[in-house]
Amino acid sequence: MPAAWTATLLRLAALLVAGGLLGWFYDALVPGVLIASLGALAWHLYHLYQRDRWLQTGRLDSIPEGAGTWPRVFARIEYIREKSRKRRRRWRALVREIRASARSFPDGGVLLNDRHEILAYNTAAQRLLNLKRTRDRGQRIENLLRHPDFVAHLASGSYGKSIELPAPAGHDTWISCLLIPYGPQQRLLLIRDITANVRLERTRRDFVANASHELRTPLTVISGYLEALQEDEAAPEVWRQPLIEMDNQAKRMSQLLDDLLELSRLESAQPCSLETEVDIVALVHTARKEALAMSQHPQVVDVDIRSSTRLLGDEKEIHSVVSNLVSNAVRYTPSDGAIRIEWDVDDRGGRLTVSDTGIGIAEEEIPRITERFFRTDSGRARQKGGTGLGLAIVKYALRRHEADLEIRSRLGEGSSFTCHFPPHRLALS
Ligand code: ADP
Repeated sequence: MPAAWTATLLRLAALLVAGGLLGWFYDALVPGVLIASLGALAWHLYHLYQRDRWLQTGRLDSIPEGAGTWPRVFARIEYIREKSRKRRRRWRALVREIRASARSFPDGGVLLNDRHEILAYNTAAQRLLNLKRTRDRGQRIENLLRHPDFVAHLASGSYGKSIELPAPAGHDTWISCLLIPYGPQQRLLLIRDITANVRLERTRRDFVANASHELRTPLTVISGYLEALQEDEAAPEVWRQPLIEMDNQAKRMSQLLDDLLELSRLESAQPCSLETEVDIVALVHTARKEALAMSQHPQVVDVDIRSSTRLLGDEKEIHSVVSNLVSNAVRYTPSDGAIRIEWDVDDRGGRLTVSDTGIGIAEEEIPRITERFFRTDSGRARQKGGTGLGLAIVKYALRRHEADLEIRSRLGEGSSFTCHFPPHRLALS
């Protein structure tokens, strides 16, 4: 037992014995012991009262001195209080640092609860979303970021993919929004200013479109003269082959310009309307005929139509998707190979698949295959007249129809390209 406690117990025993002896002397043993006990109790109550007051003020410099076990008990209390004070100071400093670093982030961050109400945000988010400190805390984020794409993205609950929108702050500012779920129901909305990228991309698109447009006129003149020279009986015989070659290259260049113009139109266009029905089955049959006409020894081209459901969108663009995929299948499949075109519909939407038993694509090249002018190593070796823009056109035409392109392939075994159309793009009668 600690010495302070032994001393206290001895002191209490001595007090009780003294009280008993004094009582016995006056022939009142029990009252004597009782008075001594009450005295001890009063002494302890007095110290308890003093410490209680001290605990309420919490002032370090006024710790009551006391006697017996009290200083020891209070030293421990003070030790524990000091430890928790230090811990609180550390936490406060940490919170201050986190807040300061969040304030200095170039990207915006907004904390949302399960009802999408704003709990907190940093300075960048305040600037990009035009938030007002007193007005907007506790507001639902949909009330401030009303863009339909954002509202649909929030409602879909399938986060992890960022979306790009004009910022509510205006001034031709663009933001990208990424929702990250955390905790039981909360979400962190990360906002990045992508205005510079959007402007750069717009400049690039305009440049490509303008350059393609400007090149068209001189090319038409050159093609006209080449045609006239080819038809000219008086043209020397040695010119014949170079003229044919020049005409082929002019046609190729013209196709390239057409594709570049089509691509820049598709890139900048909004999703196409849901008003026109597209007979995809007829387009598949046309693409089959085109495929058979493409070479002298055509591959087997099978068509598997499991639904007559039409699509809602743009006929020219869907035709471009089907014919680009089918023409790739023809060009990258040997003549003893096979090609298959399938159209099927279920409750997840419509699926158009073009598969082949051709040269295939290496796994690491698949993610890059829809980039402009990207050619796989095996594709480059066998390149047969494509512009290198076909799959980029497919990608953007599908994006206009809110559809995704899924590519599966194995080198040397073949490829399959599946276009997934959402249910609302089907003309379900
Ligand atoms: P290209 O005009 O070169 O065919 P695309 O954009 O249509 O341009 O295709 C890009 C590249 O993807 C092609 O050069 C080829 O390497 C590869 N590719 C496309 N389709 C297939 C396919 N069905 N089988 C194998 N490789 C393909």
